[in-house]
Amino acid sequence: MPCQQAAQRAEREAFIRENRKDIDLYEGIADSVEILIVMQTPRKRDPLENLLPYVKSEEQLYASLTSEEAQRLADYAAGLIEQDDSERAAEMLMKLICFNGWAMRPSILDMLVQRNVFYPGLLFLGAPAVIRDQLCERVEWDDENRNHLLLALAWIGDAEVVSQFAQWRDKLHVAPERYAHEAGWELSGQGKRRNLFEEGCFALVAETGSSVLPISRLEPSEQKCEWCGAPLMVLLDLGHDQAGIAFKQQRRSRTRIATCLGCTCYSVVYTDIGPNGEFSWSKHNQRPAYLDDAAEEAMDFGGREWYLAAEPRHTYYAASWVLEAGASQVGGYPTWVQDAEFPACPNCRETMAFIGQLDGGEMMEYGEGIYYAFLCSPCQVAATHYQQT
Ligand SMILES: [Zn+2]
Ligand SMILES: [Zn+2]
Repeated sequence: MPCQQAAQRAEREAFIRENRKDIDLYEGIADSVEILIVMQTPRKRDPLENLLPYVKSEEQLYASLTSEEAQRLADYAAGLIEQDDSERAAEMLMKLICFNGWAMRPSILDMLVQRNVFYPGLLFLGAPAVIRDQLCERVEWDDENRNHLLLALAWIGDAEVVSQFAQWRDKLHVAPERYAHEAGWELSGQGKRRNLFEEGCFALVAETGSSVLPISRLEPSEQKCEWCGAPLMVLLDLGHDQAGIAFKQQRRSRTRIATCLGCTCYSVVYTDIGPNGEFSWSKHNQRPAYLDDAAEEAMDFGGREWYLAAEPRHTYYAASWVLEAGASQVGGYPTWVQDAEFPACPNCRETMAFIGQLDGGEMMEYGEGIYYAFLCSPCQVAATHYQQT
């Protein structure tokens, strides 16, 4: 029997090889919106079809849409919502917001609210007062959707939401701060909004762009990790670069954020920043209960240099992990693989601001996960940690 099965399989494979045809779904289509619709329409897999890829990636197409084209694609997404395919619609709209910087249309938000779709919360970024008020009102009674409602409100994050969160702080079971962090801000002691990231955002690329000197080079330094003994590596080297955008008020001449690439996968690693780009292991570091000794040796980042891209990208470009955009960047909103995790400064206890991140998948051949860098500017303390699926 096994022999007969193997023969049948070989026969089937030979048949597929001989009869397989190249299929170009994009032949004769010049309109970017139409191309994107074809690209994102699910298609049953047929082994006899060899689907030819389009010359541009989906990400490139989204980023290049004019505002008229973006509106047309949004119309298409609205049509999907009407057909109760909110999931596909939400994905298209998220890509418009992240890759294109498109501003969500209130009429579409209204359609989502009518269908109890409040997730992903990023869809509600910049939502008007009328939508916000509906969500606020629902938080009080809609137990089933409260979690998603609070996340959506956090993404709206306007003065009214901030004041509501301050009131709900005592009233709700979960602290609103948890939701605010997901949208990159928190309530200050005075009940004001405090942003935990910078709007300016530059991708890190392999060739010189805005920065002439590399922003990241991942070379071992002379300093050692006090937990595993491996050399600390400089994740980000900010400062000798005018395009250094985001960090106007908090940068000194040079800020280098270093970490132990192995140990930071298990714990936040803090370093103290000196006035001229020096860094040192912080006395506040607390050794985690578990450390994998092999982690550091397995990592070989060496030899590659990363520069700021020539042009900035949208603040929320890589905000959604599921859209699979390259995440390595300075500034902008972080790409959380899991829940938002802004560390507290070990010195002053304030939440530390996000500075940049390196995407393991971009940095290394078999890399994965994301290394995040944070800074408490008044204390000149930096932190790093890591998330993966
Ligand atoms: Zn270490
Ligand atoms: Zn501090």
